[in-house]
Formats: sequence, structure tokens, C-alpha cells
Amino acid sequence: MVDQPVIKLRDGNMMPQLGLGVWQASIAEARDAAVKALSTGYRLIDTAAIYKNEEGIGQALQETDVPRDDIFITTKLWNDDQLNARQALETSLKKLQLESVDLYLMHWPCPQKDHYVAAWQALIELQQQGLTKSIGVCNFNQPHVKRLIDETGVTPVVNQIELHPMLQQRELHAWNAMHQIQTESWSPLAQGGKGVFDQEIIKNLAKKYGKSVAQIVIRWHLDSGLVVIPKSVTPARIEENFKVFDFRLEKTEISEISRLDKGNRLGPNPDDIN
Ligand code: NDP
Repeated sequence: MVDQPVIKLRDGNMMPQLGLGVWQASIAEARDAAVKALSTGYRLIDTAAIYKNEEGIGQALQETDVPRDDIFITTKLWNDDQLNARQALETSLKKLQLESVDLYLMHWPCPQKDHYVAAWQALIELQQQGLTKSIGVCNFNQPHVKRLIDETGVTPVVNQIELHPMLQQRELHAWNAMHQIQTESWSPLAQGGKGVFDQEIIKNLAKKYGKSVAQIVIRWHLDSGLVVIPKSVTPARIEENFKVFDFRLEKTEISEISRLDKGNRLGPNPDDIN
């Protein structure tokens, strides 16, 4: 078992800091990628109902020798199901062949529909009933999270947001931290390095540490205190993305990467998706 960093969430549950994302993978690709990742040492897998590959993760969990208790599975409530969370999670659990997941995330707030507080209340109940160990959100800006806390008294343990060197979301990351909400980076490699892998600073650090540009970017997430879930269905890259525990970036190097922030989103602004 590879020694790897684990984060203690505000509800006391432990979450691996590095995991595998499987957006845009077919069922078979997700299965093969998850089997490969688990044998490489990954213990966190991030899927979602809308990815339509939860079955593949379920198959991988049947195939692997790694005990269920050692694996952290995240799935997500899709927007159309915000008023139907129980049935949505039960469907996901069936596909995953699990009795509970480790983390259930609301995928987007969809503020104009204004159902996210009701959905959050449902997630609180699902957690109380043991169908998920932890509950959190994705793509929530500060006002959305604040409303959940004010109206239910329950703070999400994770906020999974788009975050990579071109979009660092420092204000939201700091605000999350102030509320003991773990920030998790989606599209951490800027979807294959768009505008990131060709930056001089990243290339120079790769040379200095004898690492790939992707490994430097993953290390930057880890050293910034983020949970990070690079996606790959390529066995060699799944291995490469996990070989990041034998070096650390220096503070000045982290700051140099911080200067790459352009506020450039690859995905939509959460205020606009409904
Ligand atoms: P990533 O930033 O993880 O980039 C994935 C892309 O990078 C793929 O094309 C992959 O190719 C390629 N890649 C992976 N490793 C390397 C490497 N070492 N060198 C070069 N290229 C590499 O993008 P994602 O958007 O997939 O984000 C990661 C995960 O975050 C998702 O899979 C999903 O789980 C989650 N997510 C959550 C969202 C949300 O709204 N909550 C939204 C978007 C993503 P290949 O697979 O061909 O190897």
C-alpha cells in the first residue's frame, strides 16, 4: 500500500487527498481505469450519476482485492433530481453495487430553480440514514453555501469546484477553509493541460524535479491543501499521476505558479447553470 496523504473532513471522516476522476469515460473505460487505479494505490474515485458510468465503478469494486472500507467513493446528485434525492442516491447505489457511498455531492446549485436548500435537507437525511457517510456540494459560490448553512445549520464538508493554475479561486478556497470546508479541484489538469502544460514555470519545475508537467500540476494542488482528482483512462498516465509523493514544491515555487491565475474558466459559472 502506497503511503499517501489523507484529509480529515469537518465531520471526522477521512478522505484521500488524491483520487481518480472518471468524467467522459464509458462504463468499460471507467471500470478499467478504476481497476488500474486501485492496483496502483489510488483509494479515492470520483464519479457522478450524470457521467453514466457508475456501473463501471461498481464492477471495478467487485473485481479489486482492495477492501471496500479502504476505498473512498464519491458520487453526485444530478440537477434534475434535486427534488428526488433519495431515489437518485438509491439508483446510484444500485449501479455502484454498494450499500453506502463515502461522499454524496450536490452537483450544481442551479440557483434560478431555487431547489438547492430542499435538496440539501434531503442529503442531510440520507446521511442520517447511513446511505452516505459524508455530504457536500460542487460548484457552490459563497452565497450558495452560506444559504445552506443559515437555513439548515449543516455545513457541507467538501466544495468541489473548477480549480487549476489558470483558475485558482483563491477567495472561495480561503472562504471554504474558514468554514472547515475542504476544497476539491475539478479539471485539475485544465482538461489535459490547456494553457497550463506549456507554461515556462511548469516546464522548468518539471525539469528541476525530473517529473512530468502533469505531476508538477498535481503536486501544486497537493501542496496548496486541495483534494485533487485528475482523470485518465490511460494506464501509463494513471500511474504517472500517482507518482507525486516523493517530492514537494518549495513555497516560492507555489507562489510562482499562483501568478498564472487568469480567472479563466473551462466550465460554466455556477450562477449561470440552471
Ligand atoms: P482533468 O483536468 O483531470 O484532465 C483530464 C484530461 O487530461 C484527459 O483528457 C486525460 O486524458 C488527460 N490527462 C490525464 N493525465 C494526463 C497526463 N499525465 N498527461 C497528459 N494528459 C493527461 O479533467 P476533468 O475535467 O476530467 O476533471 C477531473 C475530474 O473532476 C473529472 O473526471 C470528474 O471526476 C471531476 N469533475 C467534476 C465536475 C463537477 O461539476 N463537479 C466537473 C468536471 C469534472 P486520458 O483520459 O485520455 O488519459
